[in-house]
Amino acid sequence: MEKKGKLFVISAPSGAGKTTLIGQVLKQFPQLSYSISHTTRRPRKGEIHGKDYFFIDEQGFQTLVDQGQWLEWARVHGNFYGTSKAFVLEKLSQGESLLLDIDVQGAKQIMDDNLSLVSIFILPPSIEILQQRLEKRGTDSPAIILERMENAQSEIARQSAYDHVVVNDDIKRAATDLCFIFKNEMRLL
Ligand code: 5GP
Repeated sequence: MEKKGKLFVISAPSGAGKTTLIGQVLKQFPQLSYSISHTTRRPRKGEIHGKDYFFIDEQGFQTLVDQGQWLEWARVHGNFYGTSKAFVLEKLSQGESLLLDIDVQGAKQIMDDNLSLVSIFILPPSIEILQQRLEKRGTDSPAIILERMENAQSEIARQSAYDHVVVNDDIKRAATDLCFIFKNEMRLL
């Protein structure tokens, strides 16, 4: 029988430590591919087109919406983000497993599509600690932090829709928990 890859979806509020945790998973599971999203947001310092994101303009993004080329897409913190349907379906049909780092709106679209997936939500230990982390990170203005905190409330409310919830109170322990989930799921391939 043809071997199909597995689709993993990870969501978390901004500042929950998702990027670090995903980095650890990708290091531990080299057979797992990362799906590079498209976004209309401007690149941050150090971000590379084609590695972190494909940076495109709003018109280009909208054209792909009209053509139905996104597996999912959403507006997050004022910018558009999307996952290429062709890329994901091709990788899975080639037997490769894929990791998608997407927000709760995009994850919901994939869940509603009845695509087979393993969904994981990364939870900060508390809303206060999340705020402290965003302030310490120093990459966002107070207005953006406020917006991210408001979004965090509704994102956290979606956690029960996910197959697994990992609490990031300690990065080492959270990475171990997350890798354990991947180890089990990859073994079942
Ligand atoms: P950032 O701009 O900080 O890299 O990402 C902001 C948010 O957008 C994160 O929650 C991230 O998971 C989400 N995101 C990144 N790529 C995609 C995507 O392709 N689709 C959706 N729906 N969300 C995405």
